[in-house]
Amino acid sequence: MSNMYLLAYSRRSTKPDQPLSIIWRGQVNESVYEEARVKRIFNCQRPTRYPQAIIFAKTESDIINAVNLAIDQKYSISIRAGGHSWPVWSLRDDTILMDLGCLSDISLDEETGVVRVSPSTTGKELSDYLHAKGRTFPVGHCPDVGLGGYLLCGGMGWNSNNWGWACEYVVAVDVVTSTGEIVHADVEQNNDLFWATRGSGPGFPGIVTRFHLQSRLLPKIMKSSLYIYTMKHYQPVFDWALKIPSGIDEGLEIAVIGSYPPEFNEPCITVALLALGDSDESVIKVLRRADESHPDGAVTRSFCGNTSFNEQFRHKAKVYPEKHRYCADNSFLHNDVDVPSILEKAFSTLPTRKSLVLYNSLIPTSRRDLPPMALSVQSDHYFALYGIWEDAKDDVHNQAWVSNIMEEVGRHSTGAYIGEFDFLKRQSRLWGFQEKEKLKAIRQKWDPNGVFCSYLGLELGL
Ligand SMILES: Cc1cc2nc3c(=O)[nH]c(=O)nc-3n(C[C@H](O)[C@H](O)[C@H](O)COP(=O)(O)OP(=O)(O)OC[C@H]3O[C@@H](n4cnc5c(N)ncnc54)[C@H](O)[C@@H]3O)c2cc1C
Repeated sequence: MSNMYLLAYSRRSTKPDQPLSIIWRGQVNESVYEEARVKRIFNCQRPTRYPQAIIFAKTESDIINAVNLAIDQKYSISIRAGGHSWPVWSLRDDTILMDLGCLSDISLDEETGVVRVSPSTTGKELSDYLHAKGRTFPVGHCPDVGLGGYLLCGGMGWNSNNWGWACEYVVAVDVVTSTGEIVHADVEQNNDLFWATRGSGPGFPGIVTRFHLQSRLLPKIMKSSLYIYTMKHYQPVFDWALKIPSGIDEGLEIAVIGSYPPEFNEPCITVALLALGDSDESVIKVLRRADESHPDGAVTRSFCGNTSFNEQFRHKAKVYPEKHRYCADNSFLHNDVDVPSILEKAFSTLPTRKSLVLYNSLIPTSRRDLPPMALSVQSDHYFALYGIWEDAKDDVHNQAWVSNIMEEVGRHSTGAYIGEFDFLKRQSRLWGFQEKEKLKAIRQKWDPNGVFCSYLGLELGL
């Protein structure tokens, strides 16, 4: 930290003499500032938005001190946990950026299975920690997504169609508020703040310093099947995939992917099935039942292979490569629409060999009533698309593909998932009407002066 500006800041501090690590724009070498500005940001299509200062918090006291500094100097605060929001929400002009990457803490209460975890912890770090203890958590599909943004957005993790939204497993949070106090929020204390933690996304009116999460027992058996077809089989393959959920066991995740698989020179449609359970017999039965009805013509069929979360993470890390430029969007399609017809254009017009489209069935999660929480929009059919490319000269082409597809697909949707949405690009329904009103009131109550940055591109109360 020798090249950073250190500032002792003590007003209302819990540790008065603890210096904060701060990089002020214009007061350090430009490359030092730039390195801090983009640290851990996944999307290489980086916005030209410039915070006035970047603070690396190592402790809760650092966060409290930084909030007090921001209040005194009249800056708003933006927050970075894992750096994986596609539109890079942590970067705002003329703010103090609070980087939580150095705040690191995980511990498990073995009796209750509740794990306490700091927000920049990645999905893979939490999984590795829990798996060693025979437990697991529905983390996101890519290994390095930060729990902070992921859980606040809702969290569509492994097997979410059966295990539900990851934020449903949040049992409490510790939060630094807009007055620089630390509060605990759960179902009993500060219930409104707790409610907002589960689905408010990047407009949460506070800084979560610790999530308390209910973990699950690690399933003993995990197997997968994979079917790849050329696009001439699109319709029967999609029809088959849509029928798989009915009557099938609890632990089957179904993904339909449009991509250029390695060694294919044309876009293909792939059906990936991941079955989790406690006995070989039940998992094999589920995959066999799906296999028996798969359409002819697969160029690749891999039936019922053993797999693990680590293998699945490695695969996802290849599919969403680092050091690339990304443009993402998504929709929850109405339950009764003709899904294959609506998505055919997206599947057959990928703008680059690395781009992909994804369909997930969310049944039965989508058929359950959600518990009281901000997250309030879902449907049976989740669709997401990702333009992925390397060269800035291809930005316009890829962005146009995403916008054009979503203009059509959006007409058949009931809303969108905040975690893969960009408020600057288009409008969609992100919460139910009542939940949106409640969220506005909670934001107004907990952050009346707008200490924390609001949604980028969305007016919601402040
Ligand atoms: C490769 C990749 C794969 C993905 N896969 C999935 C997936 O499988 N499922 C899924 O649901 N989503 C997925 N996402 C989306 C991802 O969950 C969201 O974009 C999420 O916001 C990323 O969280 P983060 O902490 O890494 O990002 P950041 O950019 O660090 O944080 C995003 C915003 O969240 C808020 N925030 C974060 N931490 C805190 C905190 N402690 N207190 C208050 N506010 C906070 C801030 O507003 C912050 O700017 C994926 C994204 C990428 C890039």
